[in-house]
Amino acid sequence: MSGHAGAVSDLVDQLSKLPGIGRKSAERLAFHLLRVHEDEALALASAIRRVRTDVRYCSVCYNLSETELCRICSDPKRDTTRLCVVEQPRDLLSLDASGVYSGLYHVLLGRIAPLDGITPDQLTIDSLVERVRTGNFSEIIMATNPTVEGDGTSLYLSNLMQEFPVEITRLARGITSGSVLEYANREIIADALTGRQRL
Ligand code: ZN
Repeated sequence: MSGHAGAVSDLVDQLSKLPGIGRKSAERLAFHLLRVHEDEALALASAIRRVRTDVRYCSVCYNLSETELCRICSDPKRDTTRLCVVEQPRDLLSLDASGVYSGLYHVLLGRIAPLDGITPDQLTIDSLVERVRTGNFSEIIMATNPTVEGDGTSLYLSNLMQEFPVEITRLARGITSGSVLEYANREIIADALTGRQRL
């Protein structure tokens, strides 16, 4: 009996570590998983296992991928003269879903945030600079989030890029300042991309 209680409370402990999940929600989810068909509960466990064993970062752009090169980097139809810089893989997904951009991406895996102790060397900035140095880009689009830290990151990067013969642009302010790219709808993102301005 105590073994069962231990297993349930283990699950509640694990679930309550997830962002936005408090103790009460964790308990509700745990009891839900006990109630549903076994296959359904185990499918969740195996999806978690797969995402952690099969998914990695693309070796070029740091997008999430199940292969060495992500689907965008390995697509010969993409415009290799444009590079769009985003904070997270989920921002890339939002931008790409807008359908108005066909260039390549670079995922920073974060933003410069001195107050949180996140410095440029913890992001994928070195490999971004290397890509721009050796690539064939005519435009670099800064698509970091419109927050103080996102803007600061974009400014830092554009200063680094000054030495290269590329045009540097920033998404138009269609996205309300402070809002996060991943939540913006498709039309707003499309407007922000088409209306991008020179930095
Ligand atoms: Zn890639």
